[in-house]
Amino acid sequence: MTGDLWAGIPGQAAAVATLRAAAPHPLHAYLLLGPAGSGSRAASRSFAAALLCPDGGCGTCSHCTRALALHHPDLVMAGHEGPTWRVEEIREVVAQAQRRPLEAGRTVIVLPDGHLLGGAAPALLKTLEEPPTTTVFVLLADDLPRSLETIRSRCAEVRFETLTTSAITAMLVDDGIDPARAEDIAEGAAGDAIRARLLAADPGFVARLARWRAVPGELDGTGRTATRLVAEILESLDEAAAPLVARHEAELASFDAEAKELGLRASGRKELVDHHKREVRAYRDGEIRAGLGVLARSYRDAMATSLSTGDDAAAESAMGHLDAIGRHVAVMRRNPRLGLSMERLLLSLG
Ligand SMILES: [Zn+2]
Repeated sequence: MTGDLWAGIPGQAAAVATLRAAAPHPLHAYLLLGPAGSGSRAASRSFAAALLCPDGGCGTCSHCTRALALHHPDLVMAGHEGPTWRVEEIREVVAQAQRRPLEAGRTVIVLPDGHLLGGAAPALLKTLEEPPTTTVFVLLADDLPRSLETIRSRCAEVRFETLTTSAITAMLVDDGIDPARAEDIAEGAAGDAIRARLLAADPGFVARLARWRAVPGELDGTGRTATRLVAEILESLDEAAAPLVARHEAELASFDAEAKELGLRASGRKELVDHHKREVRAYRDGEIRAGLGVLARSYRDAMATSLSTGDDAAAESAMGHLDAIGRHVAVMRRNPRLGLSMERLLLSLG
């Protein structure tokens, strides 16, 4: 039954094989490197379960199932509140790393967003280098800024490649989804397998995709139109996140039911809720990225058409629009005032 634990991570055979083999006798720290939705996040859950399971990841025992549901007492899901990690948050992680395991043979610390450690990284180094023998760190990072070199050198690195649209299409077709619809979903998933599966369960997805496709035709260069379109887009984000929110509610209900059954104080509940909040934030981010991807594709198509008909001016204009979208995506993550910058972008495209 070991297959079950790793089944949700398509297109990453090499990384999965490495983690699966490492679980029975792990090193003290792993760095899972890969862009959002490449499967590194899902793999960190599976790996944590395998590290806590007495059989190295059977997929069915209580250690495995509780770890996958993120409420195993020896699994610490670390997280940061603000846009980057703060030193106090890392000190809390370091304190957690010192504790003895309660039920499993190990304490597993999953630390996401390693690329956002920044100035807090030095606070982690010593513990990361020499944690207690029963503690295993599983770090996640999208990419490797220079500031992460010292972190990287203390971990075993496992790389996750960006999933191609065709890999995601194949995964969805395997799931039993009609190939034409699978292709549409894969396009909207922007290399993100988790998102693809949520979209597949989301009846509003096709309508949202159509809304993004219609944007270039609706833009008329006026601020009023840009404002209206952005309002529609922001509203659709809530609608888009609804299936994820429903899944979170189910997870929380199962957490509460178990805590009640065991008569325990619900320790770890706040961490679970915080984790959910971060997931929703990341999902909304992904939705916008995917929408901008659809938008970029229509300008890319327009550019190709203009080039083939020799309309250089139109091709140049489309290229300018592509550049503007690219610049917007590059700074999006650091921009807290999303609506305003989207409006500016749409205005420049009109
Ligand atoms: Zn197990």
